[in-house]
Amino acid sequence: MILIMGIAGSGKGTQGKLLADKYGYHLLSTGDLVRKYATEKQRERMLSGDLLADDEIIAMVDECLRSLPDDKEVIFDGFPRTIPQAQWLLDQVKAGRIDLKKTFHLIASREAVKDRLKYRARDDDVDHAIEQRFEEYAKSTAPILNWLKDQNVDVVEIKAEQSVEKVHQDIISNLK
Ligand code: ADP
Repeated sequence: MILIMGIAGSGKGTQGKLLADKYGYHLLSTGDLVRKYATEKQRERMLSGDLLADDEIIAMVDECLRSLPDDKEVIFDGFPRTIPQAQWLLDQVKAGRIDLKKTFHLIASREAVKDRLKYRARDDDVDHAIEQRFEEYAKSTAPILNWLKDQNVDVVEIKAEQSVEKVHQDIISNLK
């Protein structure tokens, strides 16, 4: 399993897809799962840029993992986003259900990604929801990176303001 972390618009989905296509890995995007399967209430939270409850997201991820062959390599985009989610994931690693190959942290400034998000123009890419996702990232998700390092997980920092192709190359060279 490979984790891709980074603020909204840092390129997690784009890079995850390139990697999945190149190596035949399964891309598990919790954002896509939410957009597809959310209840009306969950959809409201998503549209305002708030996180869904940990147990709801974990149930979706768990079900998705169950549906995949045991030996399938998985790339996570948008998960874990909180310490309890990260704890659950590392518990799965400890139980031998999945292995953790690498964690990539795509580093980009808020200013640099704002334009990308406007251009993407998804339902939740409106100013207040974008700001809220940035806030959630700073509060709930960024602390995971240090937490993972404390658990001896290898976190690779990637300069995500470079071109899509260059970021892709940087990721690949760290996977070899
Ligand atoms: P972005 O591209 O802004 O990082 P995503 O597509 O990953 O956004 O996620 C969109 C929304 O889906 C989030 O704002 C949140 O409401 C919900 N979501 C996705 N992943 C998670 C998660 N791991 N925990 C809680 N909520 C999540």
